[in-house]
Amino acid sequence: MTEFELIKRYFAIQTEHRSDVRHGIGDDAALVSVPLNHELVITTDTLVEGIHFPKATLPYDIGYKALAVNLSDLAAMGATPAWVTLALTLPSANENWIQEFCEGFFTLANRYQVQLIGGDLTRGPLSITVQAMGFTPTSEALLRSTAQVNDLIYVTGTLGDAGLGLKAIQHLLAIPEQYQRYIFERFNRPTPRIETGIHLRGLAHAAIDISDGLAADLNHILRASKVGASVNVDQLPLSEALQKSLPLDNAIELALTGGDDYELCFTVSPEKREALENTLATLACRFTCIGSITAHHELHLHHQNGNLYHGSLHGYRHF
Ligand code: ADP
Ligand code: MG
Repeated sequence: MTEFELIKRYFAIQTEHRSDVRHGIGDDAALVSVPLNHELVITTDTLVEGIHFPKATLPYDIGYKALAVNLSDLAAMGATPAWVTLALTLPSANENWIQEFCEGFFTLANRYQVQLIGGDLTRGPLSITVQAMGFTPTSEALLRSTAQVNDLIYVTGTLGDAGLGLKAIQHLLAIPEQYQRYIFERFNRPTPRIETGIHLRGLAHAAIDISDGLAADLNHILRASKVGASVNVDQLPLSEALQKSLPLDNAIELALTGGDDYELCFTVSPEKREALENTLATLACRFTCIGSITAHHELHLHHQNGNLYHGSLHGYRHF
């Protein structure tokens, strides 16, 4: 098959067709219309085999995750996702691989009414670059730089599951049989917290998605906002699977430093606590208050009894 036949057969077949796409796949570039009084929100992320996903990862999961990590960035901005492009570099035109990759990719894309509007196909070591685009009402996007002293800090879902999954895949530890499916699913198919992000517009002061571990990512909010934080590590939401797989200290360490969770961390003024909790209670996604923003310009981690947290804090480093 030629490049054009592959594109026609596997990539230009999406069932989701948005009315705001004037030209999708097929021309030199795509044309879309952004709704009136909205801003375009754009993000991109690359996944490289052996670095961002283990070599044995199923093509379905690679397709799913390549899109999920990008949608997670849009969620952290409070954006409504709409369009994506996909630049794929493949060692060979293995059609079975491409078909399964596309199944994972389009399953997630259709779930959020996201349309693939263009891309590129090249030969080389396996690498996937997705660019995701969405929109928010003008000036309502959630930023990292707008946390305020006394804000409450929340996280969605549970933390540390994906980090546990990666360690298990690397044979660094074992997960009890009954939790393996859940944990590997959390690592390979993270849920972008799109609905939560959209509901946080007008309520949250700052937000980020947790890709490199809570400690590292919360620190990005603190630096950008020129504030500090006090976090009670005994309040971190831990899944039953994580708690049953590791001693509590190690579970907490993983919740603070494990990457790939793609949960949201956000801050809200205490006056809006009730409004926030009522709004989020209408969604299926769990959320937990873990601490508050302080004026001290540092991240203070403590236990329920007030003692300082003494565990390690080495999150994922890209370089
Ligand atoms: P050009 O040479 O003008 O850059 P291409 O020949 O690379 O265009 O692509 C032809 C069309 O197919 C373009 O609309 C492009 O966006 C789309 N396309 C190419 N690769 C992909 C892909 N992997 N997924 C979706 N669309 C793609
Ligand atoms: Mg062209």
